[in-house]
Amino acid sequence: MKIKQSPPPLPSSDCLFCKIVSGTIPASRVYEDECCIGFPDINPQAPTHLLVIPKQHISSTAKVPAEDTALMGHLMAAAAEIARKEKLDNGYRIVVNTGDDGGQTVNHLHLHLLGGRHMKWPPG
Ligand code: AMP
Ligand code: ZN
Repeated sequence: MKIKQSPPPLPSSDCLFCKIVSGTIPASRVYEDECCIGFPDINPQAPTHLLVIPKQHISSTAKVPAEDTALMGHLMAAAAEIARKEKLDNGYRIVVNTGDDGGQTVNHLHLHLLGGRHMKWPPG
């Protein structure tokens, strides 16, 4: 599906996930399409823990340009498709940490896809 996106900003040279998108830092891509990739989290918090990130640099959900609303939906749909491929038929959790209070440590928007165990609520 063709997603209308804002003109891509130049990749941030000091952004870890931009380096994964460009291939400068290796990651095992379990999913890729024209606007996002999925790869394993280096410090997994569940039997399945994948990250889904846009190829273009967007620092967080707080900084999504209005014209990238469709891209946000696309990331969610991509995570759901990956979950189906990973056979997370019993359920899963999608987490998007935003800012300091949200626990965001990498300032390139990313969805955590967690599955393979029962999740507690509320999260810590
Ligand atoms: P957050 O704390 O929500 O910003 O999530 C950032 C995530 O990136 C953490 O779960 C880290 O384990 C993960 N991470 C950091 N470096 C890498 C890397 N090189 N490859 C894969 N995942 C990474
Ligand atoms: Zn980036």
